[in-house]
Amino acid sequence: MQRILVVEDEMQIARTLRDYLEVAGYEVTAVGDGESALASVRGWRPDLVVLDLGLPGIDGLDVARELRRASTIPIVMLTARGEESDRIVGLELGGDDYLVKPFSPKELVARVRAVLRRTSGAGAGAEVLRAGDVEVDLTKMRVRVGDRPIDLTPTEFQLLATLVREPGRVFTRGQLLDALHSVTIDSYERAIDAHVKNVRRKIEPEVGRPRYLLTVHGVGYRFADE
Ligand code: CA
Repeated sequence: MQRILVVEDEMQIARTLRDYLEVAGYEVTAVGDGESALASVRGWRPDLVVLDLGLPGIDGLDVARELRRASTIPIVMLTARGEESDRIVGLELGGDDYLVKPFSPKELVARVRAVLRRTSGAGAGAEVLRAGDVEVDLTKMRVRVGDRPIDLTPTEFQLLATLVREPGRVFTRGQLLDALHSVTIDSYERAIDAHVKNVRRKIEPEVGRPRYLLTVHGVGYRFADE
């Protein structure tokens, strides 16, 4: 059974989310602050974290930052309406998806399922994509650039795999968003940009002059086809 850690200080919301996720077949632990969250991730080893960004004590964004320091565990963030800058920062920190309060618990379950599906790699046989010296192993969800193994979050992995599958093809931000099975309605362009920035930071030899993941001005992105 897959494990979900819910980090939410509003007891009522935490309880509702736990109920819905349990009915959906997940094992759930709920905690109300960042310190317990970090301890729980280390001790209990969940498969995904649902993280409220507005927490007492350690702020949610700091929790995300701390989690990313050590792992690529999927993170679905919860934010209050109007905290757009938090959402962008959250995605830049490597969050995989986010929901704006108030949201329906069913929607959360759908997002959690989608992110976990991406994480477990959909299992479509042994397939390894190659473009130049970038290698994407779809089964093992591993990426290498030359001899260097690269750690990507599930969302970053999906984004890169989509681009590498068809080197040279230009993808709009909307198409990339579809490929991520994401239903983010507001500022989606910036969400994709944030993920691209993260992938570049990890795979590009020179972040300021991308060699692999190229910008197509006014349209979107493409992977270099040399
Ligand atoms: Ca809160």
